[in-house]
Amino acid sequence: MADLDLAYRHRWVRSGLFLLHEAPHACRRSCCLVLPLRDCRASPLLMRLAILAPLSQGLKMSQYWSHGIGALRPYIPGEQPAIDNIVKLNTNENPFGPSPLVFDAIRSVATDSLRLYPDPEATELKATLAAYHGLDPREVFVGNGSDEVLALTFLALLKHDAPLLFPDVTYSFYPVYCKLYGIDFRQIPLTDSMEIRLEDYDQQCSGIIFPNPNAPTGIGLPLAAVEDLLVRRPDAVVVVDEAYVDFGGESALPLIQSHPNLLIIRTFSKSRSLAGLRIGFAAGHANLIEALDRVKNSFNSYPVDRVALAAAIASYRDERYFRRTCAAIVKIRSALMLRLSAFGFDVLPSVANFVFARHPRFDAAMLAKRLHERSIVVRHFEQPRIREYLRITVGTPSNCRSLIDALSEITTQGRVD
Ligand code: PMP
Repeated sequence: MADLDLAYRHRWVRSGLFLLHEAPHACRRSCCLVLPLRDCRASPLLMRLAILAPLSQGLKMSQYWSHGIGALRPYIPGEQPAIDNIVKLNTNENPFGPSPLVFDAIRSVATDSLRLYPDPEATELKATLAAYHGLDPREVFVGNGSDEVLALTFLALLKHDAPLLFPDVTYSFYPVYCKLYGIDFRQIPLTDSMEIRLEDYDQQCSGIIFPNPNAPTGIGLPLAAVEDLLVRRPDAVVVVDEAYVDFGGESALPLIQSHPNLLIIRTFSKSRSLAGLRIGFAAGHANLIEALDRVKNSFNSYPVDRVALAAAIASYRDERYFRRTCAAIVKIRSALMLRLSAFGFDVLPSVANFVFARHPRFDAAMLAKRLHERSIVVRHFEQPRIREYLRITVGTPSNCRSLIDALSEITTQGRVD
């Protein structure tokens, strides 16, 4: 980094004298190679790198950045490898693809109509969601993936004087939003059995957010526990992130009418198999939705495009497909949990479309690496409390067989370093 600073300060970079190549962002540390351009010219490979790695990648452009941007530690999404023939079990996508009705709907909007902006209020999708979930359309908000709905929620409803509470082991985007918006937060430890205990949230705060089921543990909370929290805490906004609820969790949607402080956030990325289109929604009292609308319309009036709107509506028209694919994932999950347990893994009791498991003898980071070498991608978090776990998405039965075969090979070799 010192080399880079030096190079930048001396304007060598800007004058094109140096090639900078920054290591993949997942590595977190800024490790840069600074090479004189004449060395690059000598090697066709380096010349190609010079073209592929734009100079700006390695630059510290802080003089042009807004205040605070340099201090941000952005969320790191799971790897999306650009190669075919991998067994991709790292980002909790649905292995079964969307309903055939979704493809028909997408074809039907792939017309000249795409020159027009989409409906900024997503009226038809909101009506569809409201009718299905027994809500008023004014109790529904839609956005560009639930990540965007979460981002708007943090700004619209969770930025107050008292801290926001969420679990110490949870969706790692929450602290990122807090730092982005300057929200004071406190992380509440999971129990030793990695469960959320909502009694631990009975402390001074302005808001509480947690996924149910929690991610990355997959453990669900009963509806009664969520209801008890809402009864105890009418003073705080309670946000339940139900990204994975359709795989066996208990939804808090029935509590919306009786609790004006409850907001539920859902996604089309998991059970509806539409991660590639980016659609999420929130449900809550019209007053909470109004706050979200205000922020959304101060940011982006058209967050959900025409194709996504049509696909989302169509996915709700194919109830049979939805139920069949969710049930299949639940069944495959049970089998996968059994197989992993038989290998000696401790597997947390998941009600999500992934499992969280650790092996008492094998290092999780090394297992992830060995699996990756065999083109099987799972998620490992280098984080306190969970670094010995792997998060494994429930794939097709064939995906799971490949995983088990690879684990069998790796663990019987007994050598994971
Ligand atoms: N919440 C949780 C708990 C998640 O794991 C994810 C997926 N990364 C999301 C929200 C966001 O999902 P999406 O933006 O695809 O709707």
